[in-house]
Amino acid sequence: MASIRELHKHLVSKERSAVEITQEALDRIQALEPKLHSFLSVTADRALEQARAVDAKIAAKEEIGLLAGIPIGVKDNICTKGIRTTCASRMLENFIPPYESTVTEKLLAAGAVIVGKTNLDEFAMGGSTETSAFGMTRNPWDLSRVAGGSSGGSAAAVAAEECVVSLGSDTGGSIRQPASFCGVVGIKPTYGLVSRYGLVAFASSLDQIGSFGRTVEDAAILLGAIAGYDPKDSTSLKVAIPDYTAALKPDLKPRGQLKIGVIKETFGEGLDSQVEQAIAKALEQLQALGAEIHVVSCPRFRYGLPSYYIIAPSEASANLARYDGVKYGYRAADADNLVEMYTRTRATGFGAEVKRRIMLGTYALSAGYYDAYYLKAQKVRTLIKEDFEKAFEQVDVLACPTAPTTAFKAGEKTSDPLSMYLVDLMTIPVNLAGLPGISVPCGFDDNGLPIGLQLIGKALREDQLFQVAYAYEQSTSWHLQKPKIE
Ligand code: GLN
Repeated sequence: MASIRELHKHLVSKERSAVEITQEALDRIQALEPKLHSFLSVTADRALEQARAVDAKIAAKEEIGLLAGIPIGVKDNICTKGIRTTCASRMLENFIPPYESTVTEKLLAAGAVIVGKTNLDEFAMGGSTETSAFGMTRNPWDLSRVAGGSSGGSAAAVAAEECVVSLGSDTGGSIRQPASFCGVVGIKPTYGLVSRYGLVAFASSLDQIGSFGRTVEDAAILLGAIAGYDPKDSTSLKVAIPDYTAALKPDLKPRGQLKIGVIKETFGEGLDSQVEQAIAKALEQLQALGAEIHVVSCPRFRYGLPSYYIIAPSEASANLARYDGVKYGYRAADADNLVEMYTRTRATGFGAEVKRRIMLGTYALSAGYYDAYYLKAQKVRTLIKEDFEKAFEQVDVLACPTAPTTAFKAGEKTSDPLSMYLVDLMTIPVNLAGLPGISVPCGFDDNGLPIGLQLIGKALREDQLFQVAYAYEQSTSWHLQKPKIE
């Protein structure tokens, strides 16, 4: 499938109709889903209806926006009115939201065509979609490997051209890591830039919705459409949203004006040597484009992981208390009394990883342990933020690998949760600090698996991230390579 801008041109010149474009996406979904399983629900009828409405506007010579008629995938933890929203959990298997999330409301108003709801780890807890109650998503570049997670379905769907762009959510790396594994662009914006209204909460102080695209421009267009203040989300920021595409220029000149800091602590033990080489080459390329490269230190970076695994489960244990079999969602049958009904509902409705998080979080928040775990983790979080602030006194953008390795084999890490957690070592600190981060393709390893470069920006400087990522992308050809799905 072509890019948003190309498709828009085809639509306004009437070269192709929105129905034809939507049908192309639906046909691809039908052909590839048995292999990939990127989607939990495909909304073909609604999608075609939305497409027909766009075609009617074009026929009536009304002006249409860039996203009108563009097939989009939406992660299945984002509520869509009247469309099943499962969070890949038995708990919400038959949950049909009575309301629309702010992001999908904006997309529908823009005429975008939602083709379906994409697969994820259960309640977005995981790094491979293997905790999905409905089966994992496979990596389009190698079907024996994971697509990453938790937004693995959104990343794989874009990589495999089942849709043009997609929405994901990122609490500790869930957009950037699958983007890296699937060879697409993924951005987690500044905390508060995009409304979380209608995003099923995992860890509310960390969750952010963001976008995936096969190109930086596509991801930028989609982010621009969903960003902005929303009174329905109390953490939403009252800021003007710039036109992100206006920042896209093919180089980083004047030379030396833009300073990029390489985070020293992200290199060393555990980093795959081919990933390391690809990142080193990408930095050379950024220098050639006009950036000044510095080495910076974020000494507390590696404490991000342990503090995240206190803070995120603590918040999750509180957020997931609402699934009790009473208000909505799954209820276990045959309980004799209320307590038994609660217990059985939660014991059978949640999968093992979700239960692990609830237990970890409940423990960390319990009387007598709160100070030792939760409070301490919050203090570490502040120190990590300070490290970023210091680094940003010297440079404009930070760079490091998105993930320490390329996509791993299905089943490789499922029996060892800690090894799965370690995959997010380089993305988690960014969530703890509330900063924007983007993953952009920067090469392939010897197995033909994509590698991602992570760029981290100052708060609300998504424009700068897009600028650097775009200049890099346009001077390389990684984004032009396509997976052969077999
Ligand atoms: N993999 C991380 C976790 O399991 C991050 C998940 C996310 O960002 N939603 O918590």
